Amino acid sequence: MSDCIFCKIIAGQIPSRKVYEDDDVLAFHDIHPFARVHFMIIPKKHIASLADAGPEDQAILGKILLLAPKLAQEQGLEGGFKTLVNTGRGGGQEVFHLHVHVFGGGPAA
Ligand code: AMP
Ligand code: ZN
Repeated sequence: MSDCIFCKIIAGQIPSRKVYEDDDVLAFHDIHPFARVHFMIIPKKHIASLADAGPEDQAILGKILLLAPKLAQEQGLEGGFKTLVNTGRGGGQEVFHLHVHVFGGGPAA
């Protein structure tokens, strides 16, 4: 997936403001935040979209969702947050590497 911008971020070839990383996932701040706090959680495995995930991806999808409240709290969203997964062109997806947006805290500055 040499032309995937998020794979390049995972590989360290494109810089990002990292929120969290382990063997399976990476979380980093969105470059164009639409809220005061806005980051994305992505699998390190290249999965193009939610529609391209299969049964073998069940564990990583669960891990990402379970990480969302933990990381949101660490980023100052104690009162709650929103999640968003754009899927496919018709769903407004622009980067075809599965990502869960986590955001909140009011409008971006
Ligand atoms: P989506 O419409 O769900 O595919 O959103 C893709 C998101 O990726 C957008 O909110 C972009 O601002 C964000 N984005 C694109 N390139 C980068 C980058 N290099 N670093 C951080 N976020 C990015
Ligand atoms: Zn990728």
